[in-house]
Amino acid sequence: MTSRMSPLLERNEQFARTYTPVPLGLPVAQVIVITCLDHRVDPAITLGLKLGDAPVLRNAGGRVTQSVIEEVAYLAFLGRRLFGGQLTDDTRFEVAVIHHTQCGTGFLADPGFRHEAAEATGVDEAALEVSAVGDPRVETEASRRFDLPTRL
Ligand SMILES: [Zn+2]
Repeated sequence: MTSRMSPLLERNEQFARTYTPVPLGLPVAQVIVITCLDHRVDPAITLGLKLGDAPVLRNAGGRVTQSVIEEVAYLAFLGRRLFGGQLTDDTRFEVAVIHHTQCGTGFLADPGFRHEAAEATGVDEAALEVSAVGDPRVETEASRRFDLPTRL
């Protein structure tokens, strides 16, 4: 039986045959990427990330939500717990928050569209309003530096 998943599974089988596991360790790039889930802006392609380079957290609009903050805090905990003895001043991480042009969340700036989206999804209109990404040059937040052992 074939499904839309079949080509993906075939590609995954091919990948698994030639895959060399990346050893468990701190991400090589020492950057945590937060970006949009849009299928046109894959950070592996747009940033040239390879396996083991950086954790990537994605959501609609690439917004820093409470759940994203919790994920980053967990990553900090995990790094500290697993590699605390290896951490030095050089193990500081940066968080890159990346937005993009033509983001689908831009439609949420329109009150009518936002209201319709809230009705259809059950998501609060105020939450939808703050997730709208207009001009990414305005929206992109500066990367923040933090020490891995430090809770945000
Ligand atoms: Zn987007």
